[in-house]
Amino acid sequence: MKKIILHCSDSEFGDSKTIDGWHREKGWNGIGYHYVILNGNRKSRSDYKKEDDGVVEVGRDIDIMGAHCRGHNMDSIGVCLIGKNRFTANQLLNTLPAFLSHLCIIHKISRDNVFGHYEFSDTKTCPNIDMTLVRKYYFLPFPVLGVQPGTDLCLHPPFKK
Ligand SMILES: [Zn+2]
Repeated sequence: MKKIILHCSDSEFGDSKTIDGWHREKGWNGIGYHYVILNGNRKSRSDYKKEDDGVVEVGRDIDIMGAHCRGHNMDSIGVCLIGKNRFTANQLLNTLPAFLSHLCIIHKISRDNVFGHYEFSDTKTCPNIDMTLVRKYYFLPFPVLGVQPGTDLCLHPPFKK
């Protein structure tokens, strides 16, 4: 695996099982993403459960080629955030930085090879997050412990300028 491509589900709810169903309906061989990051709403937009917020679920087996980004499935890991254009703080500030760092270490991928779907498509905005800021800020040591008092830390949601 040479890169990670981030997506959003373009839905307000869902989990790995739900997406597996959606992708099978399209005639695919099951879920196209390797991992899914939940927003706490598995079944509907009104069933929020805190314990599901930010949970990473396994999708397609990592050893099997994904189906998530045309022309780039051969050498990429597909990660999908549940959500359209708003995500939870747990997803963005807790799970995503830690999980991306984890994947990069395990698969020996540099942060420069973490992309958003839109960077490989002229017609998509997926995952609706500014990936330049993800590459810049998400690979700082988290959690920020033992930092000298007065150190300037940028912890605002990374999709805002
Ligand atoms: Zn996508």
